[in-house]
Amino acid sequence: MTDEKRIAVCPGSYDPITNGHLDIIGRTAAQFDEVVVAVVNVSVRKNQPIFGIEERLSFIEEATADLPNVRAEPFAVLVVDFARAIGARTIVKGLRAISDFEYELEMGQLNRMQAPEVDTLYLMASPQYSFLSSSGVKELATFGGDIDSLVPERVARRLKEELTR
Ligand code: ADP
Repeated sequence: MTDEKRIAVCPGSYDPITNGHLDIIGRTAAQFDEVVVAVVNVSVRKNQPIFGIEERLSFIEEATADLPNVRAEPFAVLVVDFARAIGARTIVKGLRAISDFEYELEMGQLNRMQAPEVDTLYLMASPQYSFLSSSGVKELATFGGDIDSLVPERVARRLKEELTR
């Protein structure tokens, strides 16, 4: 073993962060010295996020305030390039369903091709969050569904403000 810090990157769009993301981030924080929650900040994506980059970052910072080894940062480059730039050798992703597996397998292979020294670890979603996605929460909020147990309190409030019809 070396003294090198073990840094993990948890990348995503986090539009907005859910309790499922927080479960993966917390479990990653228990295994690594530092966790950087990397929030995609690209304006050319087909689907524009509901929340701007600053607000997505602030939701994460507030929700992870009790985890001293976790911080949130925006990124607009390849995930592996971001990982290299901050000295991380591990990307951590959550897997919910078979559909996640297929997508992540492809992404994982492509990332390995780009940067063989950065590996990806996959954590299985906890059962109580295995159905939970940001897009599902947004859809629920749009039609006035109950989202209070799915996202942090401030996120629920802001989603209702932005989306409730
Ligand atoms: P989403 O798929 O909800 O839009 P992101 O693009 O922000 O989320 O995904 C970031 C990471 O979080 C991905 O690795 C995704 O698989 C993981 N993730 C999202 N929701 C959950 C959940 N409920 N449980 C475990 N992992 C999750």
